[in-house]
Amino acid sequence: MFHYSGILPYQQQLRDNTTSCEEATLHYLRQIEEFKHLNAFVSVFTETAIVRSRELDQRRAKGLPMRSLHGVIIALKDVICYEGHPVSAASKMLEGFTPVYHASAVQFLLEEEAILIGSCNCDEFAMGSSNENSFYGPVINGKGQHMVPGGSSGGSAVAVQTGQCMVSLGSDTGGSVRQPADFCGVIGFKPGYGMVSRYGLIAYASSFDQIGIFGKYLADVQKVFKVIAQPDPRDTTMNQEKKSGSPITTSPRFGYFKEMLHHPSLDPEIGKAIRQKLEKLKAAGLEVKEFDFPLIDYIVPAYYVLTTAEAGSNLSRYDGIRYGHREQNCETDLVSFYKQNRSKGFGKEVKKRIMLGTFVLSAGYYDAYYQKAQQVRGKLISHLQSVFQKIDYLVLPNSPVTAWPIGSLKNDPVAVYLADVFTVYANLTGVPAISLPAFIHSNNMPFGFQLIAARGEDVNLLQMATAIFDGKENTHI
Ligand code: GLN
Repeated sequence: MFHYSGILPYQQQLRDNTTSCEEATLHYLRQIEEFKHLNAFVSVFTETAIVRSRELDQRRAKGLPMRSLHGVIIALKDVICYEGHPVSAASKMLEGFTPVYHASAVQFLLEEEAILIGSCNCDEFAMGSSNENSFYGPVINGKGQHMVPGGSSGGSAVAVQTGQCMVSLGSDTGGSVRQPADFCGVIGFKPGYGMVSRYGLIAYASSFDQIGIFGKYLADVQKVFKVIAQPDPRDTTMNQEKKSGSPITTSPRFGYFKEMLHHPSLDPEIGKAIRQKLEKLKAAGLEVKEFDFPLIDYIVPAYYVLTTAEAGSNLSRYDGIRYGHREQNCETDLVSFYKQNRSKGFGKEVKKRIMLGTFVLSAGYYDAYYQKAQQVRGKLISHLQSVFQKIDYLVLPNSPVTAWPIGSLKNDPVAVYLADVFTVYANLTGVPAISLPAFIHSNNMPFGFQLIAARGEDVNLLQMATAIFDGKENTHI
């Protein structure tokens, strides 16, 4: 029986010939079948995965060296292009679409001999916090019957949580890797903006979007990050001021925002667990500083103004001509043709955001909304820079609540938006952030905490996460 306990032990087993890539691939294909009812995958690359696993086994048999992700079985969120394999952003708009090139991150994974096993369900065009906005129906959290897995990368989180792959990629524009990781009890890492190429990632809000990693082990996340965080001239916004991981100082300084840890929406158990975590750091002799954060109420509005504006522009390409769903028996005049394709191709949430984005960019409202939100973003960035002059790492919750029952917040979209308050902050400021699964709530759902570092400190953040996270997943508080 195949057992997985991390990339390194797995690759040692491959070297020792106690398992093979084919055996591992078949194991995960069976797991995908077994957990089909959770709806985590929208397509499974059975053929290619098996063929590739055999090729890799043959390479080892010939004595060829193994590359760093040799045989590692990875699932992709359904917004990341893998040439020749369907990708749809979980939207009817892109049903049946097959990309003609690899996303750069995919190319880097393949060069390092990873096996890509399938494409994971998500909220349509990555817009959502619960994976209930998918054309393929909701994903179910493996930890609670009928609970949401979080979103938008809910399928990628559940795939790792329930052992349907070793690691997975998601995308994080406002928390879509960290929040589902929190809801599912796995690790979720959002690199700093510009660390991982966005080439071949279906765009939602380009100045926020970042590919991130889900895993059960920090060592796995570190290894995959090293592979996908490579310079890429095809993404012109890349900003690789990555510090190479200077050895951790003996006395790292931590901080937290008072308004966040005492936020009225924060579940008291979550608040308590995180405050206790900070106490533990203090008790270990580390500095823990409190900061004021007067801008807290502006974070979520600024995020939704800016991302809907960018989304409105990015999604204009789906018109049924260049890309996207084309209605049969369409009206012949161009405007009706566009209208029909876009009304039928997009789901409700996506349409709402395109309309909001168009509104905030319109001549009469640009200054009142878009411009103001840009100013808030600027202030958040400079405030955070000043904070990082005094400390090295910030500790935050991931979400004010644990996973909720599917359908229960359907009529309260504003509550769902507001629940993004702790995650959108790192996207507005462009810094790296990781969600670490640490606790189990008395309602039996997992939750953890978020660790954030300054721009360029991705490698150090991962090292610090390893140092302070004891790996005892899901300790009851
Ligand atoms: N929940 C946020 C939103 O709906 C985050 C989405 C994301 O990170 N892709 O915009």
